[in-house]
Amino acid sequence: MRILVTGGAGFIGSHLIDRLMAQGHEVVCLDNFYTGHKRNILKWLNHPCFELIRHDITEPIRLEVDQIYHLACPASPVHYQYNPVKTIKTNVMGTLNMLGLAKRVKARFLLASTSEVYGDPEVHPQTEEYRGNVNPIGIRSCYDEGKRVAETLAFDYHRQNEVDIRVARIFNTYGPRMLENDGRVVSNFVVQALQGQPLTVYGDGSQTRSFCFVSDLVEGLMRLMNGDFIGPVNLGNPDEYTILELAQAVQQMVNPSLQIDFKPLPQDDPRRRKPDITRARTHLHWQPTVPLQEGLQLTVEDFRARMIEAAQNGTERAKQEQPISPA
Ligand code: NAD
Ligand code: UDP
Repeated sequence: MRILVTGGAGFIGSHLIDRLMAQGHEVVCLDNFYTGHKRNILKWLNHPCFELIRHDITEPIRLEVDQIYHLACPASPVHYQYNPVKTIKTNVMGTLNMLGLAKRVKARFLLASTSEVYGDPEVHPQTEEYRGNVNPIGIRSCYDEGKRVAETLAFDYHRQNEVDIRVARIFNTYGPRMLENDGRVVSNFVVQALQGQPLTVYGDGSQTRSFCFVSDLVEGLMRLMNGDFIGPVNLGNPDEYTILELAQAVQQMVNPSLQIDFKPLPQDDPRRRKPDITRARTHLHWQPTVPLQEGLQLTVEDFRARMIEAAQNGTERAKQEQPISPA
């Protein structure tokens, strides 16, 4: 099949592309490189079945594809709050454009939605029936409400235009290739630990999250795309940890003598989050397989390798920039 992955140069998108390429599909990666990076897809650039298009999805585009995995949207609060109006445009106009494309070419369309549609949930764990507790005017709204509209658009295109949709509500996902500076909790703690800096826990660290390793998530997305169940379906790991427990796990893994610093809790930070994955188990026969310790270890190794490479490149560049001494 010819498969379009929007946001394919990003963290989840690039892991998904690795799997699709390994299966022998033709893959079109569409990205504006806002938070994505060419190095994530470097190994495919010269492959005859791979095509990279630099494009912003807020502008229309004409392509011929069979399936669309629609992932383009910054996912970390630091990035999506940097330009909130752009985040809304990406979620609303961008999703509209991609649904229009799906309608024109009759492609199956999978939306990467989020657990953030549940806001600061009053129901625990969160089932797909729960309608959420979202602040419409807060600093997270550009993302939360943006994704809620994206879901609405998907279901309206489905009802009105018979577009074949799939909707995944992704919970916190982590793993190799997360950006070092994206401000999300796993990447922050791992970078801080590897640099020997204190781990920054926001609030008292009693808020909870459930962390899904990226390979598990990608498997869930592909099962959803290729099955009959439309969704919405929660994809996440139901093992719930407090943020302080996560900090302690990273501390134990990297350097037990690291300090933990407590910082103010950001506005509208959800108190608890844990997916009920009954639907995914029932309809997709899917559940996560990688435990936190194992996934964290793989993540730490990836960040360590990238930091060593960056340091070596820095030394090389410094050497090259040395003024040539007169003979
Ligand atoms: P990411 O920031 O690494 O990837 C997003 C990609 O989209 C980047 O490559 C970025 O350059 C691209 N992009 C952003 N705006 C664009 C635009 N206007 N036009 C074209 N490309 C654009 O994030 P990720 O963690 O890989 O997340 C992928 C998707 O999964 C997002 O839609 C996100 O909302 C969703 N999601 C992720 C998580 C998570 O924990 N990582 C949780 C819930 C939902
Ligand atoms: N967090 C933290 N220290 C950090 C970064 C984040 O304690 O250095 C907390 C944050 O306040 C939130 C949780 O970790 O309670 C998860 O944050 P992240 O930004 O990764 O994702 P989200 O809030 O979108 O789930």
